[in-house]
Amino acid sequence: MSSAIYNDLQGKSILVTGGMRGIGREIVLSLARQGAHVIFNATKSEKNQEKAGELLRKIEECGGKGTPLLFDVSNFSETQEAIASLLKEGHSIVGLVNNAGVTRDQLILKVKEDDIDKVIDTNLKGTINVTTALARHFLKVSGEGGNVSVVNISSVVGLMGNPAQTIYAASKAGIIGFTKAFAKELASKKVRCNVICPGFIETDMTSALSEKVKESYIENIPLKRAGQSQDVASLVCFLLSHDSSYITGETIKIDGGLYI
Ligand code: NAP
Repeated sequence: MSSAIYNDLQGKSILVTGGMRGIGREIVLSLARQGAHVIFNATKSEKNQEKAGELLRKIEECGGKGTPLLFDVSNFSETQEAIASLLKEGHSIVGLVNNAGVTRDQLILKVKEDDIDKVIDTNLKGTINVTTALARHFLKVSGEGGNVSVVNISSVVGLMGNPAQTIYAASKAGIIGFTKAFAKELASKKVRCNVICPGFIETDMTSALSEKVKESYIENIPLKRAGQSQDVASLVCFLLSHDSSYITGETIKIDGGLYI
């Protein structure tokens, strides 16, 4: 658990996509420990609707406030409608974490159109959908003196590539380009945007890998261990806080040295 306290995050409303499992859930709970109001997203499945109450209780136990907002980030109109309904309630959103993501690992000769659509639409288009749906609101909030920070979750795979992850790598590299352009466009309006590239982090996404593949990943990591969701969550809190107010357009690897 992070020991850093960012007082400016207390009471602030922050949207985290893909916030009900893995890295996203840890980001949600870390922000709750900072006293933030966390709007957490995941797909609109029956399971998520049932699980939302449990996460809300956990957020409150951590000292924060929570609001579930279930929608499919890859769906443009569903995203627009969900964000519009959130803003209609009068929330002032000052932070966004585009974390929702999927993998469909497949050798290039076996890639199907459905794999391309799923991965690009969720990871890249999803990040763009949510950010653009909030962009006008961010300009309004920053114009009123608010400090707005967007954090996108990419991957070291978007920087270095990986066999059987061509589509995933393309989607994650796209997020880096989007981050830099968005950061340049909105910096004069005091809206910041940074991108995190995690390496191998233990979550549902990586638990699907065989023990042999996991061992070979760890063998290549200079720190000789997998990362934890908390490692990423601590960095996200820093990037959302005023302590990082002079950092924008930056790409930060958190990978135990894997990229070196
Ligand atoms: P995870 O455990 O599989 O969780 C993914 C989350 O994204 C879930 O909450 C899922 O919600 C949500 N999601 C997927 N598609 C969605 C959609 N269309 N709309 C809304 N929510 C959606 O993954 P993770 O390992 O925590 O990864 C989180 C992020 O970190 C991803 O962007 C991933 O690419 C990136 N990353 C992970 C690693 C790693 O080693 N784990 C490394 C580098 C980067 P549902 O429960 O509704 O499916």
